[in-house]
Amino acid sequence: RPSSFLGRGAPESLQHVGSVLGVSSCKGGVGKSTVAVNLAFALAERGARVGLLDADIHGPSLPSLVALEEGALPVTQRQDNKLLRPPQVGGVKLMSYGFVAKGASVGKVSAAVMRGPMVSKVVTQLLSGTEWGDLDYLLVDLPPGTSDVHLTMCQTFSLTAAVVVTTPQRLSRVDVFKGIDMWNELKVPVLAVVENMAYFKDPRGEVHHPFGKTQLEAVREYCRVPSDAAFRLPIDEGVTDACDQGVPIVVHRPQSETAAVIREAAKLL
Ligand code: ADP
Repeated sequence: RPSSFLGRGAPESLQHVGSVLGVSSCKGGVGKSTVAVNLAFALAERGARVGLLDADIHGPSLPSLVALEEGALPVTQRQDNKLLRPPQVGGVKLMSYGFVAKGASVGKVSAAVMRGPMVSKVVTQLLSGTEWGDLDYLLVDLPPGTSDVHLTMCQTFSLTAAVVVTTPQRLSRVDVFKGIDMWNELKVPVLAVVENMAYFKDPRGEVHHPFGKTQLEAVREYCRVPSDAAFRLPIDEGVTDACDQGVPIVVHRPQSETAAVIREAAKLL
């Protein structure tokens, strides 16, 4: 596993973080956060020390995807160095603008009125201002598209690698390629591609493709990742159910096909 992340300019809070992995998608609603959260929990299940930052300031989803354990501390701030203490669930350290928006010093401005540079500043603050401690992996659930946040993150911290999440929709292919171009330009290697909502199995076991046949091979080739680094996830009511429960599907339904695919993908990180 690369541990190249420790750039000289890395802030104190990130000095003991092994890999920082960005999870990206070209559009919203494709399941990027679902994949990011489940990869984090799949890695933790294997004994890794994991952190997860929800870098989507306009639509933070982590607070609804992962319910804090009863009695878990809300985010508190250390008096001495002002670092935010992340709440933990299943051993995963979590941070989201949604946790701090009403409390700590990074959240005094409503996300709805923030402009791009401001958003990047808040993400930077969340990343460098959280007490991550010793981590093998810090996963960053990035905002959709190719935004200021991606650039700022790469310029300020340098990401170790990225995971790209797509759907089979042909329409979005150009945008997916744009996202991959961005990673190439930023010299961030793409480790895996996940095509989410790729198919649906009805109760008789018949397979349907409501969003169209797979685009995965084209995307994989464009990313230049090997075929064992390309994954397809089904449309799975278990994902919706897990989301409603605030428990990632790898924990909620560990025997499901979705959980198995996520675990395979996590092995590559
Ligand atoms: P994004 O981060 O790309 O905006 P989310 O992970 O928040 O997307 O997912 C958007 C919605 O789609 C959520 O309600 C989520 O539960 C649902 N969803 C994501 N992946 C699947 C899937 N494979 N099967 C069923 N529902 C899914």
